[in-house]
Amino acid sequence: MIRAERALRRLIDGNRRFASDVRLRRASIGSSRRLELAGGQEPFAIVLGCSDSRVPAEIVFGQGLGDLFVIRVAGNIVAPSQVDSVEFAAGRYDTRLVVVLGHSSCGAILATIEELKRAPDDQSRKLRSIVDRVRPSVEPLLGTPIAADHDALVRRAVRANIRSSVSQLRHGSQLLEDMIRRKGLLVVGAEYNLDSGVVEFFDED
Ligand SMILES: [Zn+2]
Repeated sequence: MIRAERALRRLIDGNRRFASDVRLRRASIGSSRRLELAGGQEPFAIVLGCSDSRVPAEIVFGQGLGDLFVIRVAGNIVAPSQVDSVEFAAGRYDTRLVVVLGHSSCGAILATIEELKRAPDDQSRKLRSIVDRVRPSVEPLLGTPIAADHDALVRRAVRANIRSSVSQLRHGSQLLEDMIRRKGLLVVGAEYNLDSGVVEFFDED
């Protein structure tokens, strides 16, 4: 079992390598590693990330086979199946770090903003299950001065949505709450920047 702080350090170091174009060690994705893992896994971190093609968790964190248990869904939202997947990995593999990984210019956030700015009778059913879960993070921002600046609004909404997913994982599951209290499970938010390749971890709050 790898403690949360050490797991976090590995992700930070791996992302630093990725962002500075240092290639992944071939050994971590080679056939001997594959065979070694065929009998079992012990992922050191769980990542709940967005499905965006530009943000594959293993690559942006510079990790190989067997390192990360990854759940991807548009907008890195938390619905019951995401909670169950995180519970499954934390309980079964004793993984102590959960990262909610959002990213700049997230399409799910953009779609939600577009949807909320439309007239109520013009709102579509498109992406409904995603938009409905992102909406509570975005809606309060629309009534503030930041709404006049589209880019700033998107940036703020991305972060609010990540924080919301973190909070739902921390407080939406008895099993995860127990692991946080008794086993040092850490649930943190992070934002990937599409331009720089850098992942910024949020302070714990
Ligand atoms: Zn996205």
